[in-house]
Amino acid sequence: MPENPVASLIEALAGGGVEVIDLTQPLNERTPVIQLPEPFVNTPGLKAHEISHYDDRGPAWAWRWLEIGEHVGTHLDAPIHWISGRESLDVSEIPPHHLVAPAVVVDRSAESAEDPDYLLTVDDIRAFEAEHGPLPEGGWLLLRTGWDARAHDEAAFLNASSGSPRSPGFDTECARWLAEESPLIGVGVETVGIDAGAAGGFDPPFPVHYFVLGAGKYGVTQLANLGSLPPTGSLLVVAPLKLTDGTGSPVRVFALVPRN
Ligand code: MN
Repeated sequence: MPENPVASLIEALAGGGVEVIDLTQPLNERTPVIQLPEPFVNTPGLKAHEISHYDDRGPAWAWRWLEIGEHVGTHLDAPIHWISGRESLDVSEIPPHHLVAPAVVVDRSAESAEDPDYLLTVDDIRAFEAEHGPLPEGGWLLLRTGWDARAHDEAAFLNASSGSPRSPGFDTECARWLAEESPLIGVGVETVGIDAGAAGGFDPPFPVHYFVLGAGKYGVTQLANLGSLPPTGSLLVVAPLKLTDGTGSPVRVFALVPRN
């Protein structure tokens, strides 16, 4: 047992034994944003306004102000985002130890490439546990689908050319199980929302939002680079704004990954 585990981590970071992987998509005016059908109101994406750019408005400095929805780009859903979690935490109230926690990666990129409506089941998670060991207490399950490769192209990312969105996710029972029976604190996905594209038609609608946020747990969306993570053994760092009353926030997400 090292006498100072933080010193050991610093040494491993400097020596290459631990690598920091950025799981965040770039946030700009072209970042894809969820599109709800009528009659629901949609969120704006990011709009950046210049205040000065080393000019008469501020000769030695550049700065901007931002217009942005809470649920834009790589972002966190706080429990109060959903009606089932309305008595639970806003984003500013999330305990920091929930935001620095272990993660497992379930890779369904092959299945999702074949079927954009692919849904992960409880049996799939049981099979993952049989191979890799139990899910981590207080940790995150990250669902890799390969959807991050589409994130530069809103049409491909939302995949709604048929009139309704088609993207992979979790089935209803899996959502309930993750919320109520698993030891996890949250789920992360590469898609625009924590629910599958078709989940508006599930019972209940948007079951991951309903059950996971309703259980006081969290969701993170629009992740990148999950393909660089091992199935188990990563440490996830999720950093939302400490936004009072926030229902969510854009986040920077890192994974600390052991390298030999
Ligand atoms: Mn959201």
